[in-house]
Order: sequence, then C-alpha cells, then structure tokens
Amino acid sequence: MGGRADLHIHTHFSDGVLSPREIIHRARACGLTALAFCDHDHTGAIAEGINAAAETGVEVIPGIELSAVLEGQEIHMLGYFIDPGHEMLQEFLLRVREERLRRASRMVEKLNGMNVPLPFDTVLDRAGQGSVGRPHIASALVEEGFASTYQEAFLRYLGTGRPAYEQKFPVAPAEIIRVIHAAGGLAFVAHPGSSLQENILLSLIREGIDGIEAVHPSHSHATEQHYRGIAEAYFLLTSGGSDFHGGKRNDQDALGKYVVSGDCVEAMRRRIT
Ligand code: AMP
Ligand code: ZN
Ligand code: FE
Ligand code: FE
Repeated sequence: MGGRADLHIHTHFSDGVLSPREIIHRARACGLTALAFCDHDHTGAIAEGINAAAETGVEVIPGIELSAVLEGQEIHMLGYFIDPGHEMLQEFLLRVREERLRRASRMVEKLNGMNVPLPFDTVLDRAGQGSVGRPHIASALVEEGFASTYQEAFLRYLGTGRPAYEQKFPVAPAEIIRVIHAAGGLAFVAHPGSSLQENILLSLIREGIDGIEAVHPSHSHATEQHYRGIAEAYFLLTSGGSDFHGGKRNDQDALGKYVVSGDCVEAMRRRIT
C-alpha cells in the first residue's frame, strides 16, 4: 500500500511555529497522505487539524509527545491514536504543563540571578496558549537581545547542564505508557538514536512500548535500519516523521522528507482494534 505519512509534527500548541491549519496546507502541497500532530504535552492541535483536513484527503492521526525520565536520562515518547478527550490523559497533561510553567519560572529566576533581566512575561508571550519550554525562553532571550542566536541561548544558558538549566519534572516511562494506553493509544519511544542507551531501550520494551520511531532527521540510514531490526526482533511497530517545528531550527525543508508508508499506519490501526 502506498502513502506518505509524517508522524511527528509540532505546532504552535507547543514549540512549533505554525498553526495546525497551516501545517495541513503545507502537508497537502508536499503530497503527504497522513500526518500526526505530536505536540509536547498538548493535544490542542488535533481538533483544529482534523477540521482543516476535512476534504483534503490528508488523514490526521491524533498524537502527543511526552517526556519521561529514567536513570536521570530524559526520554521522549510518542502516543498515536490517542483519544484527546480522555479525562485521565487531560488531567495528566494539565499536571505536566503546570510543572513546565514552574520549571520555566525557575529557569528565568536563574537567568535573572546571572545579570540577565529577562522578564518572565516575554517567555509566556512566546508560549502563547501552548505548553511552555526552553525553546520559548531561547526565543525570548534572542528577542530581548540577551543572546544573538537561538543556538547561543542554549550554549550559554539553557542547554543541559548549562547555568540556567533546570531538569524536567520526572515522570517514569511506565506512567506515560499507562496514560497513553488508557487513552486508547499506542506508545512509541521517540528518536532513540539521539542519545538513548541500549539498556534503557530494553527497559522500555519490558515496560510495554508498542513501537520505535525509526525514521527521524537525527537518524542515519544505518541507525534507522538498526532500530527496524530491534523492532522486528521484539515484535514492535515502527514509525517516523520530520519532528517539524515550522522552520525554526533549520528544519524549513523537513516537511515531506521524513516519512513512513501507509502500511506503517495500517499496522498501527490493526494493533489498536
Ligand atoms: P524542553 O522540553 O523545555 O526541555 O525543551 C526541549 C527542546 O529544546 C528540544 O525539543 C529541542 O528542540 C530544544 N533544545 C534542547 N537542547 C537544545 C540545544 N542544545 N540547541 C537547540 N535546541 C535545543
Ligand atoms: Zn519540540
Ligand atoms: Fe523529542
Ligand atoms: Fe518532537
């Protein structure tokens, strides 16, 4: 079966730049047949995306990207085919977004203590209605003239272990898998090639993930094949996408370039029904 599906896209409901409607418009222009909105800790894009996609022939798969911490390491996990209206899921998302807000405020306090008088309001403005994160602080730092580039904001202040860095609220992968499954979805580990150790991947498999994101801009062809092999060995599904954020971080051309086939989406659908 044909088809081109990009199963990892961010919108302005998290740290992406574009609205769901704009994404659908571009997705259609570059020939995608399906896409998944996977905003960090937020499902706001899904309803608008489904509306915008009606009559375009582009299928919208409801998704989410959540952060877990295991053995001090941050792990990103994707949920696909979740019910965005699920109460337990929304309670969980509210809690983690509140924690994000507290963490962002602690990072701004750290900056303020380092002679960087960035007002917290400028960060909140950048985040808008979406879930706030380091990318919004980085953009605010650039906008207010405290860093010359987005990259520099991470290098000097916000990157892991840098002076204004604050760890994320630790949620165990098992809890994330439970929430995604409760909401009727499938749980995948996101972009494992970027830093995930093999023993951590094996723990996630034991804890019951349904699949591995094999296609990702940070994965070489060899990395993709490596994870496809692991998925096959453990009877797991595979997924993939562009992790598009709307052109903010040199990903201007990424939409349409990192895709999986329609078969991949069908295999997921079979697993949930
Ligand atoms: P947060 O979820 O608030 O920790 O923000 C994480 C996001 O910040 C990641 O998804 C990246 O897009 C971005 N990010 C993290 N580290 C860097 C870095 N060193 N340079 C550029 N962007 C980064
Ligand atoms: Zn992001
Ligand atoms: Fe991620
Ligand atoms: Fe992402």
